[in-house]
Amino acid sequence: MYTNSINSFLSHINKLSCNALEVCISAAKEYGVNIYLIGGIVRDLLLEKELKDIDITVEGNAIEFAKFLESKKNCKIIAVQENLKTAKVRIHDCIDIDFASTREEKYLSPGVMPEAYNFGCDLSKDVKRRDFTINTLAIKLNEPGEYNIIDYFGGLQDLNDCKIRILHPKSFSDDPSRIIRAIKFKKRLDFEYETNTYTLMQNYLKQINQSIPLERIKHELCSYFSMNKNNLYKELINTNAYKLITDNPVIKIEESNICKIKKYISLSKKEQWFIYIIFLLVNCSSIPQRLNLDSKQKKIIQETKEMLEAEKTFDNFEIYKLFKDKNNLSLLAYYVLTTDENLIKFIEELKDIQVLTTGHDLIALGLKPSEYFNKIFDKILKEKIFNGIKTKNEELEFVKSLL
Ligand code: ATP
Repeated sequence: MYTNSINSFLSHINKLSCNALEVCISAAKEYGVNIYLIGGIVRDLLLEKELKDIDITVEGNAIEFAKFLESKKNCKIIAVQENLKTAKVRIHDCIDIDFASTREEKYLSPGVMPEAYNFGCDLSKDVKRRDFTINTLAIKLNEPGEYNIIDYFGGLQDLNDCKIRILHPKSFSDDPSRIIRAIKFKKRLDFEYETNTYTLMQNYLKQINQSIPLERIKHELCSYFSMNKNNLYKELINTNAYKLITDNPVIKIEESNICKIKKYISLSKKEQWFIYIIFLLVNCSSIPQRLNLDSKQKKIIQETKEMLEAEKTFDNFEIYKLFKDKNNLSLLAYYVLTTDENLIKFIEELKDIQVLTTGHDLIALGLKPSEYFNKIFDKILKEKIFNGIKTKNEELEFVKSLL
């Protein structure tokens, strides 16, 4: 399917990126360093998928190369990460490119960030730290007109065969977040797991160590569940990848319920991933600390649990109380898990009902602030729900009638 050389690859890249790459190529020539496109961009270029970020690997010091681009090529360094020797550079005010120094990595303990060393090493050493063969493909940019694909691990064959294959047997135990990356690429590219890779994944998940850090896994889950694909949750369950987070997830969800409730509750693209985190955690007696969720996220899970535990009611006042002031994510997850039509009723008929009378109004009517205020507010609310009073005047008249 792919030839070993893609001389015309620049023509697949949009004009802006193409110009930016030409700036980098000429800088590399003047500076005297080898630079490569590597990873996702090469994979997606060969698959003729839409290209996202441009990552360039520098066989040398990427920060020094970025400084050269800044001083000689009218570019601007916009971020530098000293420990990994990477730099983000804005090329001619229009496009950002990430530059990474080639490096090797070793894992001191499973799941923890690896230690990077041997910066500026040969590309052949750099590719060994990568996740899957299809992400090891590189294109050297220094010889215009001869853009050969560099393939140390048979990535081209795997790309042809639509296979996701790790590079060595310890890959998943070194970095379990690669399990989520594997399912991400499977779903995104419509690939299959290579048999041995799948076996190693399952072996790892069978004896998983519950103390592995979850920060990278959470990051990958966010990326995974932000994709616009069907059955993402199902894949996580079917492959046992959920075990990275919990032993006790919701096993089955109906995707069609998500579509149904989304007609009533809209979520931003940024929020979407968290619905699935709710499904993973809502059955857990406690949320793993290692996930490092913020207080808002914890509250959303707690709210969902409480709604699920609440007794079924047919009383509009109770329905209002149950759903009012709940986060959209909790409501959405609750509906997917229960298909409780009361929620639809709440959204369509009840959610905009508000008590307009305030504590100050009650004081003005001669009442002393006390617990009793809340009872009055609830009585007003019931009057609005059941007897349709609307204005503040009507509410105040009603309060007077109570007194
Ligand atoms: P995407 O299109 O999602 O950005 P990508 O392949 O570019 O896909 P990134 O997360 O941007 O993915 O990572 C860039 C490259 O870094 C990958 O192609 C891969 O070679 C390498 N990489 C990323 N995460 C890991 C990991 N956990 N283990 C090993 N290599 C990784």
